[in-house]
Amino acid sequence: MPRVMEKRFNLKEKIAEFRAWQERPREVAANSQEEHECLNCHDHYTGNYCPRCGQAATTDRFSMKVAAENFADAYGMGERGMFRTIRDLILRPGYLILDYLHGMRASYFAPFKLFFLLTAISLLVTHGINIKGQNPSADEDMQSVVQKVEEKRATEGANTVEMDASTVDDGLTEEENQLGERVKSIFYNTVDAIARFQERFSSIFMLLMLMLLSGYLFLFFRHSPNIPDLRYAEFFIALLYITNMYTIYTIVFDFFCLNKLSVLSIFLTLIPLKQMSGYSWWRTTLKTAIATISMFILLIVLLVLALLVIGLLVKKFG
Ligand SMILES: [Zn+2]
Repeated sequence: MPRVMEKRFNLKEKIAEFRAWQERPREVAANSQEEHECLNCHDHYTGNYCPRCGQAATTDRFSMKVAAENFADAYGMGERGMFRTIRDLILRPGYLILDYLHGMRASYFAPFKLFFLLTAISLLVTHGINIKGQNPSADEDMQSVVQKVEEKRATEGANTVEMDASTVDDGLTEEENQLGERVKSIFYNTVDAIARFQERFSSIFMLLMLMLLSGYLFLFFRHSPNIPDLRYAEFFIALLYITNMYTIYTIVFDFFCLNKLSVLSIFLTLIPLKQMSGYSWWRTTLKTAIATISMFILLIVLLVLALLVIGLLVKKFG
């Protein structure tokens, strides 16, 4: 009987094991104790790499596998754990960032390289390589929707002008109303352009958003329990990895045309922030929320100022 008890699946234990695995830095394979002769420079040595020229001890005759690795290497994707990095960005993103910042560089795919690779894949997925073959930039339906919205806006604009004519006594001159309309249309066009950019270039958009947010976020995370003396440059690298994590999720969601879930993956950025900082969930959420809200307040103030300036310029120069 006790044997059966032992073998029973224990969820709590599994979760504890998974947590321990998440937090444990990657273990690099031990050095080989065999003596090797380097096939490149013919030095004799023990270890995994030739100390003279750096060629791997495992250098073998070409097989299809070695040839494929060689091909990947030519594009900078060989060795350096691309798949391990992608796996870790899903299962332990914050701990991967900690490993990397603490000096485990050779174990992980460099964040910039990964960003360009994932952005390229993301562009393919949002421009037609997905299960529905949807391509918003060439989609006629999409264009007709945009056209309809524009037509609707035009008629609405005409209506408000008519209404203004009938109610002259609203304290505003016709000129002022027209001015308002022009500023409004500039505003809507800008919002439209941003929304379309987000849809087509989600990874670049995310990076820009995080960079915009990074100053505020940095203020809230620079003295965290796990990294008490975080540098801005290190935080920048962390944000790049976080963008990469986000892009992996959006590639999957966009591939299956689940655009709504793609928006939700923004909230997943809390996971790496929590793991790398060591703050509790609610503190991480609170800090991120305050940083985001202060950024938006500043953005809105800047936007209002910009609209006022545009309004003044339009008024002055027609
Ligand atoms: Zn050598």
